[in-house]
Amino acid sequence: MRLILLGPPGAGKGTQAIFLVKALSCPHISTGDMMRQAVADQSEIGVRVKTYMDAGDLVPDEVVVDLIKERLQKPDCANSFLLDGFPRTVEQAESLSEILSELNMSLDGVVEISVSDQVLIERIMNRAAQGSGRSDDNPEIAKNRLSVYRKQTLPLVNYYKAQNKLISVDGAGTIAQVSQEIAKALDL
Ligand code: AMP
Repeated sequence: MRLILLGPPGAGKGTQAIFLVKALSCPHISTGDMMRQAVADQSEIGVRVKTYMDAGDLVPDEVVVDLIKERLQKPDCANSFLLDGFPRTVEQAESLSEILSELNMSLDGVVEISVSDQVLIERIMNRAAQGSGRSDDNPEIAKNRLSVYRKQTLPLVNYYKAQNKLISVDGAGTIAQVSQEIAKALDL
């Protein structure tokens, strides 16, 4: 299955991604992880994206699109993959659609984990208080990440709904409940 996992910061996307890649035995492609690695390696890309990431802003579309294009051409992505954190803008979604059609692939679905703002803020604050070790996990930056999500990423919900690809699950329950709901929606 070729899937996208979509959801605001604090929705439990990372946790559900781990569940899904196990259940589907497919590669987990997280642009956030790829760029955190680039920052740690102090590569050319890492140096370029660090300030955006630290502020909770999106890095320029072409940087992530190039990374994804290269990654999706690897043989392990031939039949299935889970995209986590990409696309995050309509422009990225349009680029993805071009990349996939060049590779003769199509998307099977877009799993959206939806969570109310109140629950999200609580979770984000808890995570910041516990210290996740992520440099973008403090209340101010987290708030910015949420507002960036609303402005730039939320339009993807309608974008994929219009293509009949959207599978929306309620992310308010426990980790196990949300996993179960995703499994049911995908017939796993
Ligand atoms: P994540 O781990 O998915 O929350 O991503 C962490 C940070 O990496 C985000 O706040 C952005 O700065 C950057 N990032 C990750 N994926 C993308 C993307 N698809 N487009 C732009 N920026 C991204």
